Amino acid sequence: MQDTDAAPIGNGILRIPVPITDNPLGHTLVYAVESPGGLILVDAGWDDENAWEGLTSGLRAVGHSITDVEGVVLTHFHPDHTGLCGRIREESGAWIAMHEADIPMFEQMVEPRDENWLAGELKNLARAGASAKELAAFEAAPHDPPTTARSAPDRVLVDGQEIPLAGRSLRTVFTPGHSPGHVCFQLVDNDIMFTGDHVLQKTTPHVGSFIFPLEKHDVLAEFIESLQRVGTSTGIRGLGSHGLPIDCVAGRAGEVIEHHEERLSDMVDAFGEDHLTLWQVTKRMTWYKPWKEMSPMGRMLALSEASAHLRHLVACCDVARVGGSDPAVFVRVC
Ligand SMILES: [Zn+2]
Ligand SMILES: [Zn+2]
Repeated sequence: MQDTDAAPIGNGILRIPVPITDNPLGHTLVYAVESPGGLILVDAGWDDENAWEGLTSGLRAVGHSITDVEGVVLTHFHPDHTGLCGRIREESGAWIAMHEADIPMFEQMVEPRDENWLAGELKNLARAGASAKELAAFEAAPHDPPTTARSAPDRVLVDGQEIPLAGRSLRTVFTPGHSPGHVCFQLVDNDIMFTGDHVLQKTTPHVGSFIFPLEKHDVLAEFIESLQRVGTSTGIRGLGSHGLPIDCVAGRAGEVIEHHEERLSDMVDAFGEDHLTLWQVTKRMTWYKPWKEMSPMGRMLALSEASAHLRHLVACCDVARVGGSDPAVFVRVC
């Protein structure tokens, strides 16, 4: 059996890998557990025909059908988790639950990408220090929303809420950072936590802010606090939304914190003695591929990650904004 096969994985948990088209992550791992009314799914999967086929055939392979789904609990609003919710609800009458802090994010994600939307995005990139050529490249890139309002949640999750399963329950653990309303789900009286994208076995989840150059909110500090929150529970194993199971959530959370400490130090080094915009310092840092080869959307994600780190360095007084600069320019504080 391969990791990409739908299968029971012990403790009454079924794992259904749902493909994400053209994405290096490969799959979203949807987990299913029996509930009083059928099945509860943890997350749903990407919104296209290929993913739908993966979800429905996966459920069949473990002895179920899409009509068994009583509800979907979402770890967060990202489209590889929410995309298929609408179609599941239409087929099975399932309810869809998400933390309230992610609901405005979901609404923003599915809004029409019209002229107003584009103008706002271009203004945002200009505030980061993007040149006219870079703005034109962004404008020319495809901007279709990755999913639609059809997948909107109809129930709200709160921290500590318990979701009834067949003879047991799932507890909601609020872990903001990767998204403002990210939650993990702890199987009560068990050593298993569904960690969504908060803690992954191999990859370090994206943490970023999309208001350039700096958001008011210190997203990175929030993410680290959420890692510390799950890091206190020793002996807990994790089932993440991408990749292999996590032997020790606390240990992996500690490694992710260390990774961000290194990234912060890399950013300070990238400044050297120079005055740089968010765009310039982002370009100097190391990413998953060379800057030149990155698509406009890839650059946007890199900028957002860099913006969250820059915001944290400003909060820690390691970097300061140069007064009166427009677009904003930052400098290392020695
Ligand atoms: Zn995500
Ligand atoms: Zn994901």
